[in-house]
Amino acid sequence: MAYQKVTAMNVQELVALTSPYRVTTQIPEAMTHDALNVVAHEPDVIIKPNNTGEVAAILRYANHRNLPVIVRGGGSGLNGADVAVEGGILLDMHRMNHIIELDQDNLTLTVQPGVTIRDIQTYLDNTTFFYAPEPGQGLDSATIGGNIATNASGMWGLKYGGTREAVRGLTVVLPSGDTRILGGKITKNSSGYDLKDLMIGAEGTLGIVTEAILSLRPKSPVIKSVLLPFDSANRAISVIPKILHAGVTPTSTEFFGRRITKYWEQYAGKQFPIQIGAAYLLMAFDGNHDSAVAADMATAVSLSQNNGGLVPYPLDTQEKYRHLWRIRAELLPAIQNTTSELTEVDIVVPRSRVSELLDYIHVVEYEEQVRLPSIGHVGDGNLHTYVCRDGLSDTEWPEMRDLVLKRLYAKAAELGGQVSGEHGIGYDKKAYFTDFMGTDYLKFLKSVKQIFDPNQILNPGKIF
Ligand SMILES: Cc1cc2nc3c(=O)[nH]c(=O)nc-3n(C[C@H](O)[C@H](O)[C@H](O)COP(=O)(O)OP(=O)(O)OC[C@H]3O[C@@H](n4cnc5c(N)ncnc54)[C@H](O)[C@@H]3O)c2cc1C
Repeated sequence: MAYQKVTAMNVQELVALTSPYRVTTQIPEAMTHDALNVVAHEPDVIIKPNNTGEVAAILRYANHRNLPVIVRGGGSGLNGADVAVEGGILLDMHRMNHIIELDQDNLTLTVQPGVTIRDIQTYLDNTTFFYAPEPGQGLDSATIGGNIATNASGMWGLKYGGTREAVRGLTVVLPSGDTRILGGKITKNSSGYDLKDLMIGAEGTLGIVTEAILSLRPKSPVIKSVLLPFDSANRAISVIPKILHAGVTPTSTEFFGRRITKYWEQYAGKQFPIQIGAAYLLMAFDGNHDSAVAADMATAVSLSQNNGGLVPYPLDTQEKYRHLWRIRAELLPAIQNTTSELTEVDIVVPRSRVSELLDYIHVVEYEEQVRLPSIGHVGDGNLHTYVCRDGLSDTEWPEMRDLVLKRLYAKAAELGGQVSGEHGIGYDKKAYFTDFMGTDYLKFLKSVKQIFDPNQILNPGKIF
């Protein structure tokens, strides 16, 4: 697809639609890539819209002139989804950062898309409510717009689901400039096609979210957490279905191995709190009554012990709890710290097949002589595997990366999984996604895109 380049005249006209103070052709380097820098490209112009009306005016303008439009939230994505790979207009949503309404009776929070997840948590600190999807604890930049566009999930996904489960309504501007309200404060809806759910996870390719109605939950007065060490990863992972069968749904089940905690020790310059175990499950449980939550945790601990678990490490003080969950949040930076460059693979498989996936990752590591440290929300069947460049040359690295990704995605297909559980396809994974789903399915997806965006101006070069 050939696009027009934004001209000086276009910039003047875009200023007239917005404000000279919020349109710039001086492009900061940070706005040319996302967190993993898998692809970098400058937009022609950056605009910081103030409201839905401005977003609509910009899209209408761009649509008539064949100018690409890319939306950027916090830039914390991992697949280059917010990079202006074709140039064009980058909409930086940071000014649309208002929390509009807390509706206690309907348990909703209405927000603009540039509000960060951190802002939401801080706002709710003084209330009795919480917003459950919290991707990347300790990650300050991720916005709700970015979370919605990637259907982000996080540590609490096992019990409370991901972003899709927590969004009730959206205001969306389509590439034509038309504004649509999808869903609302309602808790159920059987009224025609659910386009809200289509927008969630669309990676900014179908419409721009300018307002969201989020579902809140009352805070659980009791939260308990424990670190369970095991002598093998398979033992750790295979206990999770047993815990769920016993009628216990942990709030979270985070998996990592001893190798990763060693990386963290190097990164943090501190010792990991326990030195036993080859693999760990960091689990949390919440509820209204201390005795019920304690009983759930005791059941999980006992099942773990029967499954080869070693001595558990209860996080029975605020200090221990905060420390361990902070460590969990630092595992990705700790892995990044061990290598010059890495690629992230976000495969999701049925929960019962995670062990097979992990075994296969070890086989690939051995056969290809490449480092593939893995961590993940294993209760959700979601493993994050990091392909580390280490000493590979400029020619060896892309070849190795491609080989490893192809092998891992082929295994994911065999196990009944998918390319991405929560990070999306973006720019980086689109070729693999096409291979994975097949051209017929991709043709079908493109026909959906065509309905929303016949001129293909919105976030070109992403997903397919
Ligand atoms: C250390 C670290 C930990 C992480 N942990 C997790 C995790 O646990 N779970 C998880 O799911 N992700 C995680 N991520 C990935 C990342 O935080 C998420 O993908 C997040 O949702 C991206 O939000 P963002 O605001 O930074 O969006 P960006 O990266 O800027 O953009 C992501 C996508 O959203 C689109 N977009 C942004 N705003 C809008 C809008 N208003 N309307 C339409 N489209 C829009 C962009 O065009 C792009 O396609 C982690 C990342 C890092 C660096």
